[in-house]
Amino acid sequence: MREAKHYRGATGFFDTHAHLYDAKFDKEGMAPSDILNAASEAGVTRILIPADNLDTSRLAVEYRRAHNGECGVELYASVGVHPHEASSWCSEVEQEIMNFVDSFSRRERGIMALGEIGLDYYYDLSPRDVQRSVFRRQLEIAHEADIPVIIHERDATGDMLSILRQASADGILRASPGVCHCCSMSREAASEMVKMGFYIGVDGPLTFKNNKKTPEVVLNTPIDRLVIETDSPYLTPEPNRGMINGPEYVPFVAARLASLLGMSEEEICRITAENGLRMYEIGTSLTP
Ligand SMILES: [Zn+2]
Repeated sequence: MREAKHYRGATGFFDTHAHLYDAKFDKEGMAPSDILNAASEAGVTRILIPADNLDTSRLAVEYRRAHNGECGVELYASVGVHPHEASSWCSEVEQEIMNFVDSFSRRERGIMALGEIGLDYYYDLSPRDVQRSVFRRQLEIAHEADIPVIIHERDATGDMLSILRQASADGILRASPGVCHCCSMSREAASEMVKMGFYIGVDGPLTFKNNKKTPEVVLNTPIDRLVIETDSPYLTPEPNRGMINGPEYVPFVAARLASLLGMSEEEICRITAENGLRMYEIGTSLTP
């Protein structure tokens, strides 16, 4: 039995990272209306759907077009090439990604970020030098299009920071450059990311009992730089770990954050939603 956590604040939760187009949902017999209905029941009012290659970029934008506003949930999308998929980068992919983020209609199409981009030396699914150059190129494209980025980093913190420092020195990092999603960095590295203007994204692993690192990062990060996410359908938070994840579980992440920070779940809901809107530059006032 999946445990549910329902909560209704004035603002609603913003799940800033959920791969709603993932085939896993379909395999579990979950249609978009089921996912969005469960999210809405749990008090989630906004979800950003990130991409990891050209195909999923198209899927994210199409999912948002087809389902935005269903069950009262606002949807947003991102486009980009994940480090796992860096080998797929070619001039055609580059051109399509640029078309997505450059177009005058990107905001009407709900494209709020370029990502996931970054480095993953844990899986090494693309050669590291290719990962680094595709990451750098996408930072340049984000700069040209003036759009925030969604960073994915695993076991590559040193190279990640040096590429970002170089980007900053070259003047291609925005004042508010984006988010370090599912942050698994050390406290020191995360704090350097925050100094560069990044937000820190936390999700299911924050609720895992053996995770000592993420709580430390959270306690060391200013509250106005934290956003919550699920990374659905992966990284399901406790107490449903092992089952498929969905945006309806973002309140479990919020509850853990609330207990760590000694705040109410309502405050966490409101503050993280406001942070998400500011980070993705979504112009909605949340004042009730
Ligand atoms: Zn993701």
